Amino acid sequence: MTDPAPVPILMYHAVATDPNDATRALSVTPEAFAEQMALVADRGLTPVGTAELAAAWRSGRPLPARPVLITFDDGYEGVHRHALPVLAKHGFAATLFVSTGWLRGPYDTGGALDTMLDWDQVRELAGAGVEIGGHSHTHPQLDQLDDDRLRSELILCKEIVSDQLGSVPASFAYPYGYSSRRVRQAVRETGYAQALAVGNALARRRQGPYALRRLTVRRSTGPEEFERLLQGRAIGRVFARDRALTKGYAVLRRARQVRGRVVAARS
Ligand SMILES: [Zn+2]
Repeated sequence: MTDPAPVPILMYHAVATDPNDATRALSVTPEAFAEQMALVADRGLTPVGTAELAAAWRSGRPLPARPVLITFDDGYEGVHRHALPVLAKHGFAATLFVSTGWLRGPYDTGGALDTMLDWDQVRELAGAGVEIGGHSHTHPQLDQLDDDRLRSELILCKEIVSDQLGSVPASFAYPYGYSSRRVRQAVRETGYAQALAVGNALARRRQGPYALRRLTVRRSTGPEEFERLLQGRAIGRVFARDRALTKGYAVLRRARQVRGRVVAARS
């Protein structure tokens, strides 16, 4: 059997006019997001959900012509404020991967990098047809954790999403894109049916359901680069820069985490 056509999976983070320094590089402006979605529509691409893609690849069922995935990580407030109206206007499917300990509300661990969604907004997104997936509880590098912490990050996230939304999340995205065989197995055993990595390549069925690659959309991504991303081109050129960005993001986050801990210890 031949491998089905590869699929671009777009990875967004914040959609914000004025993001803070920690989220700026990986954010997009509301205007850029609207332009990019108009381009997706113009090119005749059909956004599908993460669970839908994986199910089709598992079963051999056909997907719509020219599928694309639109995904958001972490759970920034702008996904509700800015992205949802654009998605709704086009009738586009999308997936939001939430770090449950970063969202505003009863489970907030104080580690979030910027203004996050609250659970009413997440429910509203789900009600509008956005698939809600897991992205751990406190957004650690999962491959650095011992087994107990790894399991609790995965289980807590799944249970909180299930409690808040009344349905079990089926898809997962690895924080920072990091996974290992042990992490992928734990994600599968927690009950997630598929998981997304990062990798600046088109997703292909042969990557396996727990290592589907995604394309990073950045604040610096102009319309031409966005088109090349959709086609899986220009990927080598941006790869080194992207790795540095992702690493910088991890370092920034660690620094904030340490500061957060100091503040918490004082109060
Ligand atoms: Zn993340």
